[in-house]
Amino acid sequence: MNSRRRTELSRRSERCGLTRREFLQAGILVAAAAAVSTPRLVAGFEAPPSLDNNDSYYEPFLLEGDEDRIAYYEALGFVVEENGKKCVANPLLPNKCMVYTKPYRDDRFPLLPPGATEDFYRRCIRCGLCYFACSYMGYHAIRLASLREGLHKLGSPAVDNMITYPCTLCMECTKVCPTGALKEIPKEDVKMGIALIDPDLCWAWNSGDCKSCAKACPFGSEVFEFTFNEWGVHTRVNADKCKGCGLCVPACPIGGSAIHVLPLDEYERRIRNYKNTGMSYDDYLRLILETERNDPFKATWRAAINTDYIQNVRGIEEEKIATELGASDINVTSVRRHKGD
Ligand code: SF4
Ligand code: SF4
Ligand code: SF4
Repeated sequence: MNSRRRTELSRRSERCGLTRREFLQAGILVAAAAAVSTPRLVAGFEAPPSLDNNDSYYEPFLLEGDEDRIAYYEALGFVVEENGKKCVANPLLPNKCMVYTKPYRDDRFPLLPPGATEDFYRRCIRCGLCYFACSYMGYHAIRLASLREGLHKLGSPAVDNMITYPCTLCMECTKVCPTGALKEIPKEDVKMGIALIDPDLCWAWNSGDCKSCAKACPFGSEVFEFTFNEWGVHTRVNADKCKGCGLCVPACPIGGSAIHVLPLDEYERRIRNYKNTGMSYDDYLRLILETERNDPFKATWRAAINTDYIQNVRGIEEEKIATELGASDINVTSVRRHKGD
């Protein structure tokens, strides 16, 4: 086998989330499961949710080893200690650390392709036709679930790498599904998940004028809501209108993206107690807007702290990862493709 073919094969198995050995094991198991039509028998083996602690989705702005920055924030009175670690305080919330949504690669959930029925896992026979249709279209949004996701889901489609391969809502996967597990529905009725913007990472919530996500969204004008003031164009996703396709994710200029698509239950969980502040997402946004109106000093510091984090912590880390992977142009390619260039 020549090396180009090997590279192509390993790229494909990576998209499936499987090593070659796992792929062969998966094939045998899928064939056996399909032959005896036992999805109900294996239902009891579904893996428990692996992420049950909200803290794991967020990272604090820690001050470690960088004496200059520690001295700088200490001089300003913006340092708090949590569990023996120094971190930058959130100017809006006394004694709480400034925390940020983790980069997309560490904070993503497998979603079902568009048109998935409520009894999807019972209907899906793991034939992989949706996966092939999506790959054939060149979108690669669908991968096949591996053993890591539990026997119940093994071989079923999953969409979870939206920063590189969002769903374009072409709906081709729904046309080839032989069992109706994926139904052909109008794009307007799709509900794969809901996008949520982290206002502490988003340029538009930190004195910027960015609408990249809204521009990339196929339903932009109805999905996005804007609050304009002298501090920026503050964007918010209307949860009822968002389809969860993820086209907004790679369009965001923040390393690791400031906008994440979540399954409905996870979305509900996060907006109830946003970033473990004890406040709802809406209350947190309101607090930012109120601070901008009434306390320009605090609002300026909030934006300055976030910009420091975005540029010097998140930005440097993302650049390093892109260089190591040799994949600095992945997002650009992906965005260009979805714009139809
Ligand atoms: S709608 Fe198109 S891009 Fe989205 S998962 Fe289906 S085939 Fe892939
Ligand atoms: S906000 Fe993002 S996920 Fe929601 S419909 Fe628009 S592009 Fe898709
Ligand atoms: S693209 Fe990113 S930075 Fe720009 S408005 Fe959307 S979430 Fe904010």
